[in-house]
Amino acid sequence: MTQGRCLCGTVRYEIDGPFSSMLHCHCSMCRKHHGTAFATWTTAPLAGFRLLSGAESIVRYASSPGFHRCFCRQCGSVVPEGMPAMGLVIAPAGNLEGDLGITPQFHMFVGSKAAWYTIADDLPQFAEYPPEFGLAARPGPVVEARPGVTHGSCLCGGVAYEISGPPMRMMYCHCSRCRLGRSAAHATNVFFKADGFSWVRGESLVTDYALPGAQFFGTAFCSRCGSEVPRVSLERGVVNVPAGSLDSEPGIEPMAHIFVESRAPWDVIAGDIPQFAEMPTRK
Ligand SMILES: [Zn+2]
Ligand SMILES: [Zn+2]
Ligand SMILES: [Zn+2]
Repeated sequence: MTQGRCLCGTVRYEIDGPFSSMLHCHCSMCRKHHGTAFATWTTAPLAGFRLLSGAESIVRYASSPGFHRCFCRQCGSVVPEGMPAMGLVIAPAGNLEGDLGITPQFHMFVGSKAAWYTIADDLPQFAEYPPEFGLAARPGPVVEARPGVTHGSCLCGGVAYEISGPPMRMMYCHCSRCRLGRSAAHATNVFFKADGFSWVRGESLVTDYALPGAQFFGTAFCSRCGSEVPRVSLERGVVNVPAGSLDSEPGIEPMAHIFVESRAPWDVIAGDIPQFAEMPTRK
């Protein structure tokens, strides 16, 4: 039996398994909803799924006909969704504890993957859904790029932002907080100077969650669709942008995997981007 929970711990559940499939989805909707390079989903029999707490905190956002993306209204973590017609529950692997008895099987929607993300492993790749899914892709929003300005928005379009000035750094973080908060294998964060950041619309839709006991860690997300959005730290003078929310190229590529010692048991890091057990020390 596998335990799962959201970042704030309000929504908790158990899944008996066995997990029947596990995949990385690079579609624009998953990237926005999780704020990451891709989402990692796993499926198991719906009959073995039990919600233990937090039912009243789950928001269900209808992202496409017949499909909802569920999230915790307190912290924004993605929450599993039942698919009764298929007898399955589909769960974000980043919120599940321990070894799942399965590892990722393929990448899908690589036709819509982020330009800054390079798939370095040998898993099969599908441009959209594997043929047996019988569903089509949905393109992301088109923005008119302005030189020196980076644009982004949430999945429902209610929240949009822009940032002037160059990015400072871009990292994959595999720590347990990022995995819970982004509901994914890792966060993919781009940091900019805070003074170049502004909300274009929807600031009032943004919910900020500060993790109790943490010095800085928290999440910001659209209260309507649950998408992760930038979180501004005025005291540090930086804004942490979840790269999946970007609508234009950030002008930088990921430079490190950090906290790889805390990665999920099923998370295999391929490629030659430098890896650090925890946070790299500044020289
Ligand atoms: Zn929560
Ligand atoms: Zn997807
Ligand atoms: Zn939204």
